[in-house]
Amino acid sequence: MPNFKVVIIGIGGVGKSALTLQFVHRKFVDAYEPTIEDIYRRQIELDDEVYVLDLLDTAGQEEFSVIHDTHLRSGDGFIIVFSLVDRESYESVPNLISQIYKVKETDKFPIVIVGNKSDLEKDRCVDFVEAEKFAKQKNSRYFETSAKLRTNVEDPFHFLAREMNRI
Ligand code: GDP
Ligand code: MG
Repeated sequence: MPNFKVVIIGIGGVGKSALTLQFVHRKFVDAYEPTIEDIYRRQIELDDEVYVLDLLDTAGQEEFSVIHDTHLRSGDGFIIVFSLVDRESYESVPNLISQIYKVKETDKFPIVIVGNKSDLEKDRCVDFVEAEKFAKQKNSRYFETSAKLRTNVEDPFHFLAREMNRI
């Protein structure tokens, strides 16, 4: 069965760990621990195929939003997370995408962009249409999630699994 490495990136505090833990363990972690970096595994069944996803929940992109080269190289696919209530985290996405495309020597690679914290709708500062348009320009796909409420948490992982399997 296909086994893929998914690397979850994005600046600190956007919900990378919360999203990963919701996907893997179906629980929401409220305590913010910015330095923990960990690997998780989950099996999913899609289109009569069982996928094994190894998930790397990264940390340490707070400063300069630089991703470690080893993480960039090891990823079969990437989930770039930003927070819908933190404009700066959205602004950092293009740079993260550039780092991936540079290392992979392509401008098309399985990448999904996730706007997280959709439960905080009243504080939203990134427009859905804008982010979706941006993702399309970058040969990527855009999803909005709430790790807190478990809204849409499965979708970006499923989409990415299918993309990685296509290549
Ligand atoms: P990371 O640094 O990207 O791994 O961010 P964390 O997953 O540690 O989340 C940072 C903070 O945001 C924590 O206090 C989380 O509880 C909170 N958080 C994460 N996801 C959501 C969400 O979907 N909605 C809300 N309201 N808070 C969230
Ligand atoms: Mg984290």
